[in-house]
Amino acid sequence: MKSDNVLLIFKSNIMYKPVIYRLARDFDLIFNILEAKILPRREGRILLELRGDQGQIDQGIKFLEEHEVVVERLADKVWREEDRCVHCGACTGLCPTHALSITSPNMRVAFDVTKCVACGMCGLACPFGAMRDITLFDPFAEGRTGQQYQ
Ligand code: SF4
Ligand code: SF4
Repeated sequence: MKSDNVLLIFKSNIMYKPVIYRLARDFDLIFNILEAKILPRREGRILLELRGDQGQIDQGIKFLEEHEVVVERLADKVWREEDRCVHCGACTGLCPTHALSITSPNMRVAFDVTKCVACGMCGLACPFGAMRDITLFDPFAEGRTGQQYQ
């Protein structure tokens, strides 16, 4: 089973459309709401963890896009510059989802992007600038469009 964290953006014309439940009903996906922000009559944003086969996840995302939901995969937003990381571990204590963790026995820091929710904490914590400048990517920044920062 695969897992994918996505940001869904519902513009005002579709924000009250009941489409998320169809991910479970029609695509057999497990979804978990990680965070949400609703600006009444203006916009809704939901950070969602999707779990299922990759094909089902892809189909579910396609379904959402066909219903005018803007879908952004967080794995496309956050990455580590491998040659900058010295595996100091400073980021691991701040990562709320354990996407960054120290592995044993080699004590290196692993980055599992599928667990990342793009909170930006590691970008602030890393003294070597190894994490992409994700402070630019605020999933809940008001007025942000789905195309910005891509
Ligand atoms: S952005 Fe947040 S969730 Fe993602 S790796 Fe960094 S600290 Fe962890
Ligand atoms: S704080 Fe930066 S250098 Fe240290 S382990 Fe994390 S990403 Fe690597």
